[in-house]
Amino acid sequence: MQVVYEAARQIPVVVTPDVLVIGGGPAGIGTALSAARNGMDVLLVERYGFLGGNLTNALINPIFTFHDIEGRQVVMGIAEEIVSRLQAKGGTLGHVTDLTFDNASMTPFDPEIMKIVLLEMMEEAKVELLLHTWASDVIVRGGKIHAVIVESKSGRQAICPKVVVDCSGDADVAVKAGAPYDSGRKQDGATQPASLFFRIGGVDSHKLKDWMKANRDLLKDSPTDDEIDDQKAIAFLGLRQLVKEAMEKGDYPPDAAPRMLFYQLPRSDQVAVNASRLQEIDGTDVQDLTKAEILARKQAWWIHHFLKKYVGGFEDSFILDTASQVGIRETRRIIGDYTLDENDVLAGRSFADGIACGTFAIDIHPPEGEQQIFTGSGKAVYEIPYRCCLPQGLDNLLVAGRSISVTHEAFGSIRVMATCIAVGQGAGLAAALATKAGSNTRAIDTDLLVESLINQGQFLLKDGVKATINSELKLHRQEGSGENASHYNPFAAKMNSRE
Ligand SMILES: Cc1cc2nc3c(=O)[nH]c(=O)nc-3n(C[C@H](O)[C@H](O)[C@H](O)COP(=O)(O)OP(=O)(O)OC[C@H]3O[C@@H](n4cnc5c(N)ncnc54)[C@H](O)[C@@H]3O)c2cc1C
Repeated sequence: MQVVYEAARQIPVVVTPDVLVIGGGPAGIGTALSAARNGMDVLLVERYGFLGGNLTNALINPIFTFHDIEGRQVVMGIAEEIVSRLQAKGGTLGHVTDLTFDNASMTPFDPEIMKIVLLEMMEEAKVELLLHTWASDVIVRGGKIHAVIVESKSGRQAICPKVVVDCSGDADVAVKAGAPYDSGRKQDGATQPASLFFRIGGVDSHKLKDWMKANRDLLKDSPTDDEIDDQKAIAFLGLRQLVKEAMEKGDYPPDAAPRMLFYQLPRSDQVAVNASRLQEIDGTDVQDLTKAEILARKQAWWIHHFLKKYVGGFEDSFILDTASQVGIRETRRIIGDYTLDENDVLAGRSFADGIACGTFAIDIHPPEGEQQIFTGSGKAVYEIPYRCCLPQGLDNLLVAGRSISVTHEAFGSIRVMATCIAVGQGAGLAAALATKAGSNTRAIDTDLLVESLINQGQFLLKDGVKATINSELKLHRQEGSGENASHYNPFAAKMNSRE
């Protein structure tokens, strides 16, 4: 390979915050708010001109998941606060029943209202923002990050914080700092496919519900009229056979997901579609990302054509927008002081240093083939230990969000956005404690961390008595037949042995 050499240069140190958060997605939001509310001077660096990560830039909807199968709310704290603030502005109907994945609630929201809510929350907490800025390198001294190098229109600048929390989703900072990491599944490193979300406007939701009732057998679990009518927000999954037939006629993109999945948004004439699919994309390779963006946008228009032609209610609909970027499900995961695995998830394991709860099923979109791995019902509520956020070999760096230390299988569950916000809240508080403990993330009192999180409104298993049950959620559906058979649960034996 041909190379060029860069001359050494001096880089101005522009700011020295207590806590530097890289990435303003679900994890970064939780982290920055939590650290700032615990007295830290926080700088949040984000490459886009707005906050939200996948919540906004990738248009991912709905948020999964705040409730277990009993309707018990197991994610609270900052994540729940965001939902309340969205609700006050008409940006969400709140937590509603999900007919697609039957394990817990779903929380659809308006991504534009999300953007303004997040900005307001940051302003109130006095989090300093540096937008349009990319963290590109680090300088490590004696096992600690001395500086994070950022690039922007202002050029190359350095930030020297006491503690860094990497919420980039790809562990960009941790990897630059030399932390060990894994990627994809164990046998070959293959990762889950990427998908471009897009929103459709002008949908006639009454006509759509009528169509669903008339075609219930094409939908997962063949919902009844009452189930379709009772849904506060339509969750639509199925059409495998119809999609197959349409594909054969050229009415559906051959590489896209072999089924239809979309969710109604708070404005009842809008849906967010999760049906495009791009295999063999490395979300940390710019050539792959370029290829994915081009293919995915073609898929979006093709899928919309299918919906207009085949599904009632879409006749006068239009593409409102495609996401600013293709959604990358899986890239790097750090190897931390503890690696959460599928047994921990399925057994609903609790940890002395548990900082957040998860309850979403293990949901793995396969890197090849058609059968999505899905554990069906998230009966277990498990905790994520603080140690999953501690990259080996570095003492003033934490990682929060989807790139924490978990196996490929456990990743299938922890990756959802309510869980990422909750882990961020834990990491933000830990960063505050670490700043006070001589910038050492391993020197903090984890009992104090856990107790403080509970006092600050987070739900943890130790505090089970405080759980609230949402009896309006109808979460007790059984895994059914028909379209649902296309989901494959290799963990069934482990789940049964637990019960
Ligand atoms: C196609 C798809 C469908 C999904 N479906 C759902 C769903 O229905 N419900 C659900 O709850 N979850 C879903 N998820 C999972 C969820 O969206 C992610 O796992 C979650 O958003 C991860 O949060 P995060 O904060 O770790 O990362 P992200 O949301 O990716 O946020 C990372 C942030 O960091 C910024 N950033 C990245 N690198 C840098 C850098 N070097 N410098 C500065 N800024 C940087 C990014 O711009 C971004 O704002 C889906 C994901 C995908 C891709």
